[in-house]
Amino acid sequence: MLKLTNISFGYTSKEVLKNISFKAKNGDYIAIIGESGSGKSTLLEIIYGLLHIEKGTVHWNDEKLLGPNFRLIPGEDFMKYLPQDFDLMPYTTVEENIGKYISSQDKNKSKRIRELLKVVDMTEFSQTKVKNLSGGQKQRVAIAKVMAKEPEVLLLDEPFSHIDNFRKNILRRDLFNYLKSKNILCIVATHDTTDALSFADKILVIRNGKLIANSTPEKLYTNPKSAYIASFFDEINKIPLCEIDSKDTTKKSILLYPNQIKLTEKEGIKAKVVASYFKGKNYLIEAILNKSTLFFEHHVALEINQKIFLKFAKSEAK
Ligand code: ADP
Ligand code: MG
Repeated sequence: MLKLTNISFGYTSKEVLKNISFKAKNGDYIAIIGESGSGKSTLLEIIYGLLHIEKGTVHWNDEKLLGPNFRLIPGEDFMKYLPQDFDLMPYTTVEENIGKYISSQDKNKSKRIRELLKVVDMTEFSQTKVKNLSGGQKQRVAIAKVMAKEPEVLLLDEPFSHIDNFRKNILRRDLFNYLKSKNILCIVATHDTTDALSFADKILVIRNGKLIANSTPEKLYTNPKSAYIASFFDEINKIPLCEIDSKDTTKKSILLYPNQIKLTEKEGIKAKVVASYFKGKNYLIEAILNKSTLFFEHHVALEINQKIFLKFAKSEAK
């Protein structure tokens, strides 16, 4: 179990992480999401022990981790950390890069390298020099490299940022199935929620250095507490209640995803079409109510300026 308690941290006198606490079980997959600059990378560096914290503690299985001021070489042995700007040895082969941390005494070394190459789907490049790989391929090698010694905890910072969508889904599935099978706790920092939604046991949302949500993907998606949280999952409509009911004076709004708004024949809330965007499976229609713009899904494109009626799914006002 990894346990963070009341962690606050600033590079200068300004705190960039504020009173962060959470727990993560062995074998869990935790996704940390937040906009850029919210503090995700800083949090991973604190967990790994690269940054000294004055306030708060990090424990791994009841042992307090000491941090860089108390260790000769920063970083914990049982953890591996893949920074955003991963570093590889450009003039050596993929195989040598992955094998760098596996002892040559290890009888299973070559088997282990083959296994990791398979997870990141780089088997055919094992003898290629890293400098000749694409950005996405380098990133896959970097992921394999941090897994080489089978850490107990793996910290990955935006691990799929250079990998194209075509490959991303397969890679994510293979990687997370592999980590689960080895019971490795994996914490991934990402601003892309598709990295998190299907695989994460928990999603932690940070905003301006504060942990504002810690829950399962399903709970966060179906009941987002704010437009900021919902916006990681989909386009989100924040509609003031007074736009729907002119008598409303509460100043509250409802949050609706585009698939929670439907076109109706006659009755409903009046709106006017502004644009239709082709999205493959359907169209995203931009429409205007009174003052607010909203987006909903529809199976065909609609004419610009067409008057329409809309029905909203039930939603809690916030
Ligand atoms: P994220 O990974 O979510 O994009 P970071 O953890 O990198 O966010 O940054 C959080 C905040 O800390 C930002 O405001 C950033 O400018 C600041 N910051 C990051 N690294 C440093 C540093 N080495 N020195 C000073 N400020 C930093
Ligand atoms: Mg970052």
